[in-house]
Amino acid sequence: MIIGIDDTDSIEGMCTTYLCAVLVAELKIYGEVSTPRLVRLNPCVPFKTRGNGAVSFEINVALERVEEVKEVVKARVSELSEVQAEGTNPGVVFIHDNFLRTVRIGGESETAENECIEILENFYETAVRGILRVEQACEIISKLQFDYFVLKKKRGLIGALAAASFLVIQRGKPDYYDSTFELVAYRLRERWGTSRFIEESSVWKADEDTYPLTWDTVDIENNRLVLAPHSPCPVLFGIRGDSVDAIYKAYRVIRAEPVEREMLFITNQGTDSHLITATCEETEAEAEAELQDYLSYVLTGVVASDPRTIDGGHVVFALTLAGKTGGHIECIAYEPTKGFRNIIRKLCSGDKVTVYGSFKNRTINLEKIELRELNVDIKIEKNPVCEGCGKRMKSAGRSQGYRCKRCKTHCSEKEVQIVAREVETGLYEVPAVARRHIAKPLIRVWMEGGITNIHLSR
Ligand code: ATP
Repeated sequence: MIIGIDDTDSIEGMCTTYLCAVLVAELKIYGEVSTPRLVRLNPCVPFKTRGNGAVSFEINVALERVEEVKEVVKARVSELSEVQAEGTNPGVVFIHDNFLRTVRIGGESETAENECIEILENFYETAVRGILRVEQACEIISKLQFDYFVLKKKRGLIGALAAASFLVIQRGKPDYYDSTFELVAYRLRERWGTSRFIEESSVWKADEDTYPLTWDTVDIENNRLVLAPHSPCPVLFGIRGDSVDAIYKAYRVIRAEPVEREMLFITNQGTDSHLITATCEETEAEAEAELQDYLSYVLTGVVASDPRTIDGGHVVFALTLAGKTGGHIECIAYEPTKGFRNIIRKLCSGDKVTVYGSFKNRTINLEKIELRELNVDIKIEKNPVCEGCGKRMKSAGRSQGYRCKRCKTHCSEKEVQIVAREVETGLYEVPAVARRHIAKPLIRVWMEGGITNIHLSR
């Protein structure tokens, strides 16, 4: 049976991953439990608490004990969820073995299998890239005869079904979706809400020993640890990476307060699964309609205005979208993206770029940028230099050219200089301290090989 769970926490406490870790440990007596999945959904949904995460796991349980397992899950979700918080609406989805047998590759009916898989695939992908209604989750749950449990409103069913769908697909086709790992360490209950003790130097050492197979543990440029949350939740820290061995190696190096438990998750973090590549190739109206608030895009276009720094230290520029007509949008690098803004400040009108980020109010919140072609035809005009003394000449009056009074030299034209660009083409990213859970760090792109022009933020 696959179990998906979401929306159990609030900003005051709890974490759905903790609830998952508790259940995985507790349910082991009923049968083998898989490595749980931690799925990050659309990072811009307005209903999220923090990182829009949902969880799922599979338990190999005998038919006669299925109901018992479900009761344990319901009891634990009821006990640990922050139901008193207004926006918390816990949801659990149970996918039984008879369904999982049907959709097993080469299962009973290829057609039924394909149809079901397609439904779940679409649902998961829309949960990551789009906005769903609770009714859409309910329809699928009813059509595919899944069981569910909710407290309060049913909103948590969206994340619960998406996380369960991710696991259904991944267990059949492990490489279908890009995935990474995170080992999460949880605090002793009596320490929840107090400040965390993590020995800084040990984290720097852990990073040094295991990067790039682990990543987003520290932010060197900003001299910050980024493995621990700042909320009162049960998480002490998480180590992310592409290698389970490297993650455990880093874990053994880190010295910190005692932990209650730890849990390894397979995740879609660091994969850019939220991004939609939009071509904007039709008419301007269609291009604009194609872009929707709260969705995240990869868009190519031409810088249409020199960047400017606005109140709060954010840097903005206008972008004309590539395509037949090209719409106009704004791009913004917010203040927390720190040094990334310096790259954005160096852009000039006419540069061809690809921007990556979430879209709202006609503005892309930049997560990454690729400088594809720099405008090398940027000229500035200066008063000419006097051949006699080497100083810049002064205007000789309207339409009368330039002169040097001292040397009595004259020149009719201004001097035209080509501006040397202080930035290189290639891919740039926001630093780890400002990165979304789901955003792919460029170090992962670098490890995949093939793309050379990468400027890592470290
Ligand atoms: P944390 O990361 O700390 O676990 P959270 O940020 O995951 O918290 P939740 O408490 O899970 O926040 O709340 C997110 C809510 O939004 C859930 O009810 C979930 O079902 C719903 N949701 C997730 N993705 C979408 C989506 N694409 N469209 C509509 N609703 C969504």
